Formats: sequence, C-alpha cells, structure tokens
Amino acid sequence: MNITDYGIVPNYENLPGIPARITAQHKERYEIVCQHGITHARLKTKEYFVDNQDFPTTGDFVMINYIDNGDSQIIATLPRRTFFSRREPGPVPRDQAVAANFDYVFIMQSLNQDFNPKRLERYLTLAWQSGATPVILLTKADLVDDYWEFLTQVERVSAGVNTHVVSAHTGFGLLRLNAYLQPGKTVVFLGSSGVGKSSLVNALAGEEIMAVSAIREDDSKGRHTTTHRQLIRLNSGVMIIDTPGMRELGMWDVSEGLADAFVDVEAFLGKCRFSDCCHEREPGCAIRNAIATGELELSRWESYQKLSQEAISKEEMLRRKNEWHKGVAKFTRQRKKEIW
Ligand code: GDP
Ligand code: ZN
Repeated sequence: MNITDYGIVPNYENLPGIPARITAQHKERYEIVCQHGITHARLKTKEYFVDNQDFPTTGDFVMINYIDNGDSQIIATLPRRTFFSRREPGPVPRDQAVAANFDYVFIMQSLNQDFNPKRLERYLTLAWQSGATPVILLTKADLVDDYWEFLTQVERVSAGVNTHVVSAHTGFGLLRLNAYLQPGKTVVFLGSSGVGKSSLVNALAGEEIMAVSAIREDDSKGRHTTTHRQLIRLNSGVMIIDTPGMRELGMWDVSEGLADAFVDVEAFLGKCRFSDCCHEREPGCAIRNAIATGELELSRWESYQKLSQEAISKEEMLRRKNEWHKGVAKFTRQRKKEIW
C-alpha cells in the first residue's frame, strides 16, 4: 500500500509521524489509509484542542502516530487544497469541513424531474468556492427524448463550465468523464437525493459498491447511521468522496465563490456612472443598460443579488471562526475542571 496511490500528499517534511488519508469519519473515530493499509485512528487531544487545529474530515491528509494493535493517533491536519464546509448548528456556531482535497465537483441534476437552473447556480457557487473545478452532469438521459433545451438553459447559468449528459443505466456519455477520472484524482458528487449519484458511482466502478434504491430516499435516518466508506478508491485509481455532510451543504458562506459563478454579472459591476449606484433608476447604470440591451439576463442579475445578500462577508466568517475557537477553549477548560 502506497499513500501516493490516494492522491498528492501535501508536503510533510520535518513533521513527526507518517502521512495518512481520512477515508471515513464516525463521530470521534476515523477510518484512515496509510502505508500499513486501512486502519482506524482518533485525534490526539492535546494537538487538536490546545493548538486549535482544524479537525480532519473525509479526504484530509493527516499525520499519525501509527499504532499497530489499536487506534492510531492523528496529530496534525495537513493543509487542504480544496474543501467544502458547513455551518454546525449549536450555541457556538462553527464551520466544519465536510470533504477535503478533491479535484472536481460533479454537480448533478436529473433531466426528468430534478432539473432546476436556480439550484444549479447555487451549486456552482459552492463548487467554485471550494477551490475545485466544477463539472455539470445532467443525469438519466434515457428518460428524455431531447436534452438540447436543457443544455441551453444550463448554458445561461453555467458561464462556460463543462457540461455532460449521462445515463448510468445505459452508459450514455460515461466515456467522456474519463477526462476527469484519472488515477490520483478525487471527485465529489453534489446533488439532491435521487439524482443518481450512487448509480453513477456503481456504473463507473463497474460493480455495485453503493446501495441504490428508491426506498433509501425516504429512510434518511438509516442513511446517516450507515458506516460505509466515504472515500472510495476505484480500480482505475480515481477516488470518489460521498459523505453525509455533503448532502446537507448549505449556502451560508458563498461570498468567495460568487465572483466565479457570476463572471457575466461581475463584468458590468463597477462600470456605472456613479460609484454608489444602486442599479435601480440611476442614469448611466451599466447593469440596467446591459439588461436593456440583452447583454445581461435579468434573471441572472436577480440571482446574483439574492445570493450576494445571503453571502457572509469575510469579516463575519472570521468573527464566527474566532467565536468557535473561543468556544472550544472554554469547552476544554470545563472538561479539565470536570476531570480534575
Ligand atoms: P442518489 O440518491 O443520488 O444516490 O440516487 P440513486 O443512485 O440511489 O438513484 C435514485 C433512483 O434513480 C434509483 O431508482 C435509480 O435506479 C434511478 N436512476 C439512477 N440513474 C439513472 C439513470 O441513468 N436512468 C434512469 N432511468 N434511472 C436512474
Ligand atoms: Zn448601476
């Protein structure tokens, strides 16, 4: 077993321990893969609670003290190339990564019922923000006669992101995905329940490695407690991440991804006659002009406005992060009191 089979390991020179990658997370226990194979590990408390390190998540590369006959100790989270995070509810809101170090985000919508350009915009924003490259997959091609109209609608919101029409059932379009599914690459699937994520994984793997069923969709409880591997390495050498957290990704921190998802809108921003233009009725408003001439679609502008209102500023994000660290420190002090 070679850890480099699991992707590009970030530089860990001069760090103690050996590198490993997180393949699943179950509350406090992690499943990991390292040069000794697949094993389990837990966080080393001092390193994580006292040093305020980011807790590892599925896909993270970490450093471990390997323990042969028990759980190894995770001592450091290596820097992430890309990640998705989610806001954890609770008295002290904190952001928790739900997947890390992936190369591509396959944004999936099904052609028969799930298709929704607005949601696609949201997913695109999230994907750009993660730092990885989005790819749009329109699934269940076998269920529609004609997908050109769908592609036209996608083009209006995708700003040039690669889009593929596929069918896990017939295999239609799957060969084109080989461009992304290269050894050492990691892919995450983003999309509503039922769009065919598991079916596609199975079709790509050439075997049934994920449960596909209509029943499972209603059984959301059972889903969360299943302890299947969340990072899977296919025989082709490509990794696929599918974590429960991915299914609940919110939109609370889209600010950084907005610029990339809305290049067409951003092109007109800052070009109005008045620098404090509200883009309502002011003369010389570049946005209103662009909408009037058809260069910019009104619905795109409306989506942009809506999302930028929801987006949280970087300062706000930092403030929340600090609050979270304070919360953890307090928690640790309390725990120490209880123990001593
Ligand atoms: P997930 O919830 O996104 O993982 O979706 P599943 O893979 O579990 O699929 C949900 C349902 O859609 C199942 O009934 C699948 O059989 C069906 N499905 C998935 N892919 C396709 C496809 O390419 N064509 C058709 N007709 N049905 C599909
Ligand atoms: Zn304006």
